[in-house]
Amino acid sequence: MTKPAQVMVVTPHPDDAEWGVAGTVIRWAREGKGIIYVVCTNGDKGTSDVNVKPEELAKIREQEQLAAAKLLGVREVLFLRHPDQSLEDTPEFRKEIVRLIRMYQPEIVVTADPYRRYIWHRDHRITGQVTLDAVFPYARDHLAYPELLEQDLHPHRVKEVLLWASEDPNYRSDITDTFDLKIAALRCHKSQIGQVPYPDLEKWLRQRHEMMAEGENFELAEAFHRVEIFW
Ligand SMILES: [Zn+2]
Repeated sequence: MTKPAQVMVVTPHPDDAEWGVAGTVIRWAREGKGIIYVVCTNGDKGTSDVNVKPEELAKIREQEQLAAAKLLGVREVLFLRHPDQSLEDTPEFRKEIVRLIRMYQPEIVVTADPYRRYIWHRDHRITGQVTLDAVFPYARDHLAYPELLEQDLHPHRVKEVLLWASEDPNYRSDITDTFDLKIAALRCHKSQIGQVPYPDLEKWLRQRHEMMAEGENFELAEAFHRVEIFW
């Protein structure tokens, strides 16, 4: 029997979760919540370096993701290893997410907001949509994917979904005390951030998270569209 986790973060690529929710993940980990990362693609197209082979990049990015997750206090990282830029909204992909939701029974699921307009990475859009559908109604309904029920994976009701990168944020999480560690976790993704290309990463990110905290009584926030599920 899998040990349940309170939080499941479904991320399209290694590094997206650090941009979107790392500051909040640290806070949850400090509160003693069990956190699972599900990394949908291997990120093997995420480079402009023509000398890096895709399979090498995939390996590097897994190590980077593991290092970041360790720093944040994530309990377990699951790699689905779909090729980068290949995700589609299929019954099979949805079933993978449903299976994991039923296995780990999270109260909170976090993923990318699929409803950003116009330019939005297709893997982000698909991950967000498939995860929302997996949460409701597929993970909840025993007649959805009956073969999962036969494997003793019973229906599960997620209570809350948080969507990062939303154009319509309605919930702000205080990351004032965890911001420094979020930066450190982002810097684990050397193939994406490196040491040099973003010399002002901290300053730029601080400004972004200050803006997200506008109207709140704390300094830095991660902003989400939050959906509570009552049925
Ligand atoms: Zn991404």
